Amino acid sequence: MSAVIISGKEIAGDIYAHLADPIKSIGERIERQPGLAVVLVGDNPASQVYVRMKTRMCQKLGIYSEQITLDAKASHEEVLSTVRSLNENHAIDGILVQLPLPPQCTESEIIDAISPDKDVDGFHPMNVGRLLIGSPAFIPCTPFGVWVMLAKGGFSPEGKHVVIVGRSNIVGKPIFSILCQKMKYANATVTLCHSRTPNLPEVTRSADILIAAIGRANFITADMVKPGAVVIDVGINRVDDTDSENGYRLVGDVSYDEVSQIASAITPVPGGVGPMTIAMLMYNTVLSCSRRYSVPFVPIIK
Ligand code: NDP
Repeated sequence: MSAVIISGKEIAGDIYAHLADPIKSIGERIERQPGLAVVLVGDNPASQVYVRMKTRMCQKLGIYSEQITLDAKASHEEVLSTVRSLNENHAIDGILVQLPLPPQCTESEIIDAISPDKDVDGFHPMNVGRLLIGSPAFIPCTPFGVWVMLAKGGFSPEGKHVVIVGRSNIVGKPIFSILCQKMKYANATVTLCHSRTPNLPEVTRSADILIAAIGRANFITADMVKPGAVVIDVGINRVDDTDSENGYRLVGDVSYDEVSQIASAITPVPGGVGPMTIAMLMYNTVLSCSRRYSVPFVPIIK
């Protein structure tokens, strides 16, 4: 059996099409574009690539974007005051502070300083809590992307056993918070695993839907997957590849070649969850602007 490939690129394309109308309505109603500000501290090459991709997508969709780049030695106070001034900036509907931050900055305090109404990354404790109790919240982009992929791909988690490997605040835990909710396309029985989980292969083999967010190349092997399971690979890992121009290639946390032989559906890396993360950031930015100015916005999952 060879698995169906769940294309994040394709589903992300549907999200962009979905955003065209609200972006147009916002332009007519408030005579400006939705606005996203990205704060980048330092010159981490991976962060620079992510920020560039986000800015390019904003331009493509007609979302105003502002990039604030601070020196790697910028003080904690400097980053805080940048965030506070963006909170007051009326042209900005969404604020994203690119992580990781340099060690002199306390990440949690900086995230706490973002106005929850502009927290399009969904990391502010207010949004984290609201998501957990099932109130309207900004949903973090990668977990949101995973959920939309399952719902739009025709793999509803309702009534299924979902096993998530990885309990980070930005990926594993919010996926748990979404899928355990009493609502359409959720209602799953969710098991959250981590490095202290005993007998991990036994647990992963019990999953109807297996979500890997570990950060270890090819960690999930075929013997850890139930035949016919749906496998979502969040991982992005660089592995050496002398055949590639830059000396490396990107692989997921799932051993794709072998797992795709027994899963019923699988996300590729690249081209899976990655494109969805950017799409959901654009979605949250347009949603934020629509909410602030009471412009009608049809949710992508109804
Ligand atoms: P973290 O390092 O924050 O978390 C990794 C999790 O994996 C931890 O909970 C850890 O357990 C668990 N883990 C590590 N080793 C094992 C093991 N041997 N057995 C079981 N569990 C293990 O990573 P992130 O959540 O930030 O990211 C995970 C992956 O997703 C990375 O590859 C990252 O690059 C990728 N990513 C992709 C995005 C996208 O857009 N596609 C966006 C964000 C992340 P413990 O808590 O016990 O240490």
